[in-house]
Amino acid sequence: MARILVTGGGGYIGSHACKALVAAGHEPVTFDNFHTGWHDAVQFGPKIAGDLRDSKAIEAALSDVKPEAVLHFAALIEVGASVRDPAGYWDNNFRSAKALFDAMVATDTRKLVFSSTCAVNGDLDGVEIDETSPLNPMSPYGATKAAVEMMLAGYVKAYGLRALTFRYFNVAGADPAAQVGEHHQPETHLIPLVIQAIRGSRSALKVFGDDYPTRDGTCVRDYVHVLDLVNAHVAAIDYLDRDTRVPLLCLGTGRGMTVREIIEAAEAVTGEKVPHDIAPRRPGDPASLVCGSHLARAELGWAPVHSTPEQMIGDAWRWHQRAGYTT
Ligand code: UDP
Repeated sequence: MARILVTGGGGYIGSHACKALVAAGHEPVTFDNFHTGWHDAVQFGPKIAGDLRDSKAIEAALSDVKPEAVLHFAALIEVGASVRDPAGYWDNNFRSAKALFDAMVATDTRKLVFSSTCAVNGDLDGVEIDETSPLNPMSPYGATKAAVEMMLAGYVKAYGLRALTFRYFNVAGADPAAQVGEHHQPETHLIPLVIQAIRGSRSALKVFGDDYPTRDGTCVRDYVHVLDLVNAHVAAIDYLDRDTRVPLLCLGTGRGMTVREIIEAAEAVTGEKVPHDIAPRRPGDPASLVCGSHLARAELGWAPVHSTPEQMIGDAWRWHQRAGYTT
């Protein structure tokens, strides 16, 4: 049993991580500025409202909580928004991470799990991404995450942090009990938008481009169930105690799905039609991102057991029958 500080615990993945930590016998403490996170999402363990860029606030939190490890989820995550506002993304994603890592060094907090993204790799022409893939981010979002990875490598060498970076993206689904789920404001992610289009709570889904060099012309992404992802983070806490370990693991299913295939799966799961139109490409979108997980299997014993389209869309659908968060 260990106390774990979860940055971004009011967000989508962070809130599911807190639930998984409790289930594994740990004590999560959320640290979140609640700009994009939700107070309602913090249902497992206490919360500290604070901004990571406020060095004093994060240092005080680490001194008070004395966590065995930090899970760092807090970040801005929209490719499109990052293209429009790179300054905001660098400030939020890079400066926050630096202040957190500095505070960890200052308080002798050693263990860190960092959520990165396969968007650091950019477009690899459909080749499956793995830990050796070159860094070539196509958006300021991906660039901020790549920069944090590089910063972290230096901190590990110089200051003795024990860190594991996970690269993943296209997280989908929700807690099967629908206690927590995905609620972004504004929502930009495909599966929640597909569900909103079905439910008529927004206009038709816009499919961003159907002229990509993929099997049906729409973008291919590797969708992973949020439960699978957070289980990898829980496993990482013990993994960081091992003497020999790798610094980076990719978490994907190795199976990409196109936007059209997601629409078809949603229609099969819900029995409803997804109203949709073809729209222009979205700036910063690579044609295909598929991420393997061979090393994660070997190192962590991790396998994406919940990441079928049926379970991801089914759990998301159940969650969206609820009203969502309000504060
Ligand atoms: N997408 C789409 N219409 C939307 C939202 C997303 O066609 O309204 C596409 C998007 O271009 C990408 C895929 O769905 O190919 C997944 O996008 P999302 O924003 O969910 O995740 P990202 O890949 O940006 O992390």
